[in-house]
Amino acid sequence: MPTASSVHPLEQPHSGRLLLCASLAVFAAAMVGILLRPLGYLSVFWPANQIVLVLLLRYPRLMRPVGLAALFASFVLADLITGTSLWLSLGFTTANLCGAACGWLFLRRQSQRDLQMEGQYSALLVFFASGMASLVSAAIGGPISAWAFDLSMRQGLLMWWTGEWMNAMVLLPFLLALPSARSSGAKQERQSWALKLLPALAVVGLEMTSYMVGNKVGSLVFSLPALLWCALSYRILTTAIITMVVFVTKVIVISNIVGFIPANVLDVASLRLGITMLILGPLSVAGSHAARAELLHRMRYQAHHDSLTDVLSRNGFVQASHALLKRLTHEGSSAAVLMLDLDHFKRVNDNHGHASGDRLLRDVSQVLTESLRPQDVLGRIGGEEFAVVLPHISFEDATAIAERLCHTVRSGRFLTAHHEPLQATLSIGLAYKQTLQHGDSLEDLLREADLALYQAKAQGRDCAVWTAPLSAA
Ligand code: GH3
Ligand code: MG
Ligand code: MG
Repeated sequence: MPTASSVHPLEQPHSGRLLLCASLAVFAAAMVGILLRPLGYLSVFWPANQIVLVLLLRYPRLMRPVGLAALFASFVLADLITGTSLWLSLGFTTANLCGAACGWLFLRRQSQRDLQMEGQYSALLVFFASGMASLVSAAIGGPISAWAFDLSMRQGLLMWWTGEWMNAMVLLPFLLALPSARSSGAKQERQSWALKLLPALAVVGLEMTSYMVGNKVGSLVFSLPALLWCALSYRILTTAIITMVVFVTKVIVISNIVGFIPANVLDVASLRLGITMLILGPLSVAGSHAARAELLHRMRYQAHHDSLTDVLSRNGFVQASHALLKRLTHEGSSAAVLMLDLDHFKRVNDNHGHASGDRLLRDVSQVLTESLRPQDVLGRIGGEEFAVVLPHISFEDATAIAERLCHTVRSGRFLTAHHEPLQATLSIGLAYKQTLQHGDSLEDLLREADLALYQAKAQGRDCAVWTAPLSAA
């Protein structure tokens, strides 16, 4: 299982620059938290600890004394600038960093998928990790805040723990999903913009309704159906952003109504715990949806690709070629179908071993793939037999390509499994249609190409044979 050092293979910046950037990010986040702090009390929303945790996961080098000292100093500096006493700041910062370190210890062992929120249980892992981290942090910060803000010990612990846990559930999924923004976009199904926007618009609509109804008790869960819809429609990062925006806004708005002051400590703690549990819903759905989509993608790939050579399998080739020929027939375009067969391949197995035969199949597949155009369809349809469909091509170009493929394989520098040089040649049969018409089937073209291939074998192999173009009308 990869550890965090291999989890985010981003280029590791130079130590000095990393320290500076990390310190600035934590300082800025601490300032945001302090600005969202009711006078003389704990912050409504405190993003700094989650930023520290993600920085530690992504850059484990920060877990050294100099890195921790820089992060510590950033917290203390933000506090001192905004008028918190030094002793209080030292206590709070110790609590913050111990919590982040606890989260780091747990999460650094998780898989890359989970650390990008794309695993089936990612949301639950983050839930447990941040729950533990917030408990550790509260064990230190709770008593200090109880003393500083004149609360009971229970109130201090409760405020710190629930605040930390909620902050983590709101922010961590977004921060963790950030790197996957680049990787997972391609798997999204094509959909019109209007349709794509619907789940997000539903969130906005339900949130507006909840504010119109006056932010009563039930308003916390108003947008849950729309958030679940987002989880099933968008990639993780988008769902994490929408969830974060909804709940950060909710916390800030509700903090103005309820007042995050000692007198309301139980209401505040209950609200925070409610939000923490609630967020688990959409994020768990998004995680299992992503895991399922990835599994389907992999299964579809395996169903259509040959495991040895990675080119299309017979099944994949037939499906792709049928679809292509259907389109070409509709357009009345041309196509050539090639059957390729390695010459005396059995001798390779007999003389050099099966592993060398496998290696040759892989290497020839690669050479063929590199020699063809992106729009051409190549498949391995039997042991050492391949087929190709060349769309939109003249008869002269198709025969030239067939001869070029023979030449490329003939002059290829192949190796056995024991790295000895190996000679290979290819025979090709070609069928051509100038204008594809309804009734022209892939099977007919393959049969015709196969007959030409027999002739190529009969003519002594290592050559391409074609029949005169059919229906050149
Ligand atoms: P020709 O020039 O007439 O095509 O002769 P050939 O030896 O290439 O053809 P033949 O049909 O006699 O032998 C094909 C061989 O390909 C037999 C089979 O064991 C081998 N073969 C089929 N699939 C694989 C495979 O996946 N790996 C390896 N190593 N060999 C395979
Ligand atoms: Mg054969
Ligand atoms: Mg053969």
